[in-house]
Amino acid sequence: TIKTEIIAVGTELLLGQIANTNAQWISEHLAFHGINVYYHGVVGDNLNRVQNTFQLAQERSDIVIVTGGLGPTDDDLTREAFQLLSGLSIDEHQESMDKIEAYFSRLNVTMTPNNRKQARIFSGAKVIRNSMGMAPGMIVHYEGTIWVFLPGVPREMKAMMLEDVIPYLRKKLKQKDIIQSLVLRFIGIGESQLEHELKELIDSQINPTIAPLAQNDGVVLRLTAKASSEEEAMLLLNQTKEEILSKVGEYYFGTNDETIEQTIVSRLIENNLKIASAESLTGGKFIEKLISVPGVSQVCQGSIVCYDESVKRNVLKVKNEIIDTFGTVSRECALEMAKKVSELLHASVGISFTGIAGPDSIEGKPVGTVYISVYIKDGKHIVNKYELTGDREGIRHRAVLKGYELLYN
Ligand code: ATP
Ligand code: MG
Repeated sequence: TIKTEIIAVGTELLLGQIANTNAQWISEHLAFHGINVYYHGVVGDNLNRVQNTFQLAQERSDIVIVTGGLGPTDDDLTREAFQLLSGLSIDEHQESMDKIEAYFSRLNVTMTPNNRKQARIFSGAKVIRNSMGMAPGMIVHYEGTIWVFLPGVPREMKAMMLEDVIPYLRKKLKQKDIIQSLVLRFIGIGESQLEHELKELIDSQINPTIAPLAQNDGVVLRLTAKASSEEEAMLLLNQTKEEILSKVGEYYFGTNDETIEQTIVSRLIENNLKIASAESLTGGKFIEKLISVPGVSQVCQGSIVCYDESVKRNVLKVKNEIIDTFGTVSRECALEMAKKVSELLHASVGISFTGIAGPDSIEGKPVGTVYISVYIKDGKHIVNKYELTGDREGIRHRAVLKGYELLYN
């Protein structure tokens, strides 16, 4: 039989500072797919010992899955150790390097040279994209053993296992049973709360398996069913979906590749509503996302990017007394912005964004303070205050997501 081994690299595991949840999670998911795990190993960040651990795995296992040690710092030694063992050459992967450089330039931070390390890939390796982080993973065939290298960060590792590694291994092992996945998308609930609400179900559920995953645009549950036919798999998936939605249905907005902006556009079409936005700190990011949806012309009027205070006063016509009394970053100003933009652009729904993306605070309010308002003509007028965290880009990105969340609710 095919023997699989899981190796977790990291001194913090040996010190007991964190538990090796990666090995437990990977084992559970491989077992579901009939892939037999024979060994678990943990080794610290020491080149010699990592190499020896890899050597033993090479001799006794057919598939080796390694997590951790792919990062940029000196104690990340997984690549170096495997190179010593295999003698394979290692080259910079252009696409991964571009992604890392783009990340740093977005943050407006100079990239330190050690970050280049993360884009280094063994020759002949299959690159596994990392949608949640920087370091890509890789699959390498070496002298009869399949080596899989993944980052240590659990949310990155899980997404890569489910989306790429498991399908790859199943294909290599010619698994015959049918596997069908369903992705349920949620907004307005975090990964840990979703996991908490569904804990009993996740723990007791065997087929399909349920895996909560964090993504850049919210959280998803990935259900994977195993069956002898596609119909049977779909039936299992739909039953579990119903069960999940009976618990956390209020946060659910779509399936598989559906996006929140598509869902909002469909809703506006159904209700025959038109929307416009007044955007200060988001600078048009909200409307940009919305306009990416085909068919949006039926519902989208446009946006006023009112970044400077004078534009809020003179173009958007927010009353001077509101700005003079409460400031531009306030409940009152946000509500007025949403109302004014809906009137000026003849929309039945107005949404506004005003806040402080940083790095400096203004009006004596801390960075991350954001007000979002939704104004519905002849309907609800809502304003919410948020205290968002992150750098400038992160705060602006999260503000847009919160806007969609507010519209959805
Ligand atoms: P990075 O690029 O983030 O440095 P990496 O591939 O170098 O990733 P590590 O530095 O080893 O991975 O681990 C990153 C984080 O992931 C750790 O701080 C730890 O919290 C978590 N982690 C690592 N290994 C495991 C594991 N086996 N089980 C659970 N969590 C883990
Ligand atoms: Mg690291």
